[in-house]
Amino acid sequence: MTVALTGGTVLASLDPPALSRADVVVDGERVTGLGAAPEGATRVDCTGCLVIPGNVNAHMHLYSALARGMPYALEPPANFVQILQRVWWRLDRALDADGVRASALAGGMDALLTGTTTLVDHHASPNAIEGSLDVIAEALDEIGLRSVLCYEVTDRDGPERAVAGVEENRRFLKAGWPLARGMVGAHASFTLNEETLAACAEVARDAAVGVHVHVAEDAADERDAQARFGEHVVNRLVRQGVLAEGALLAHCVHVDPGEIEAIRDAGATVAHNPRSNMNNSVGRAPVVALGEGVALGTDGIGADMFAETKTAYWRSREESVFASASWPLARLARGAVVASRAFGRIEPGAPADLVVLEYPDVTPATDANVPWHWLFGMGAHHVRDVMVAGELVVADRLLTRVDQEEVTAKAREQAERLWARMDEIPAHPFQPEGGG
Ligand SMILES: [Zn+2]
Repeated sequence: MTVALTGGTVLASLDPPALSRADVVVDGERVTGLGAAPEGATRVDCTGCLVIPGNVNAHMHLYSALARGMPYALEPPANFVQILQRVWWRLDRALDADGVRASALAGGMDALLTGTTTLVDHHASPNAIEGSLDVIAEALDEIGLRSVLCYEVTDRDGPERAVAGVEENRRFLKAGWPLARGMVGAHASFTLNEETLAACAEVARDAAVGVHVHVAEDAADERDAQARFGEHVVNRLVRQGVLAEGALLAHCVHVDPGEIEAIRDAGATVAHNPRSNMNNSVGRAPVVALGEGVALGTDGIGADMFAETKTAYWRSREESVFASASWPLARLARGAVVASRAFGRIEPGAPADLVVLEYPDVTPATDANVPWHWLFGMGAHHVRDVMVAGELVVADRLLTRVDQEEVTAKAREQAERLWARMDEIPAHPFQPEGGG
């Protein structure tokens, strides 16, 4: 079936920005042309709208979608490791398959409604590991969202769960979901022993995919690597064969110049999560030095990439008034590289992942000034329609495949269950070496 998004302005590329007046022609799952809609095509009227490539969130935790507003009765965490011990490592242990599913649906719904068509997710549910990635893939398939999934392997919950995590990645990499692909997930150097990290590298090598891992999010990760191995985190990843072109390194806030050089030499991608880094008070990643390999993620703070690009921009401007407006858009486009597809461009042959923005351009828009429209004008509230793999999965601001109110009601029900279970789980006893 041929569908044409007609009458709109098309932002065919984010890096460099390129605008044109054209109809976007979609055949099956792919964009097949930019120009005039052919006879007989099903038309979606986009007059007065802007058609953009679907946004990619390069680092996401769907499992945290039901955490917002949850009660908290322990002593307030004083640092990053305590945030993990007292919040996230309690939440993940409280998740069962129903909770994983409800989280994926709630987080996935938020992604689509804010114009994000691909999530690169990092999942943890230590008491429901086996099959958890299928639960997520099925939920996202139901709403029509594309994803790159992995299970967060760690030794913090004991050797059996570490092995189960590795096996969940291995198993999922062979599963054939239409809209989901796999990577190998690893938590972070400081919760991984040598054997487990080597196993992650091996599964990734065998499947020819990258490892998705948190790197030096807090200084505690670097202190632990020094205390246990006498080396930097990134050097450890190099030694273990994890740092490769396909690797996705989340954060890299505390990497030193030598580590930055190694990351750049490998051609790996760094997921920069500015809002999360600010929220956890962990510091600011050396994003300029890290260069072209930097992509953007939300780290679970929703999936709104308009909000994330803006925060990335404000932070860069706070540091330097010369920071460029095109930089956050180029970083957002880098997310498409992670998904190993041409998601970042609308051109013949690319997957038809498109977002229609009802954006009133009250000032003229040109190739040159698109970044300012993006950062100072556009937002998730302009998202009208979303197409993934050639299918409209959001039309007139509503999900088309599922009943949004039902998804919301079920999520709320599961959130209450999850919070009650979490209440019974104490702070996690795991401690990094070298001090939190
Ligand atoms: Zn993360």
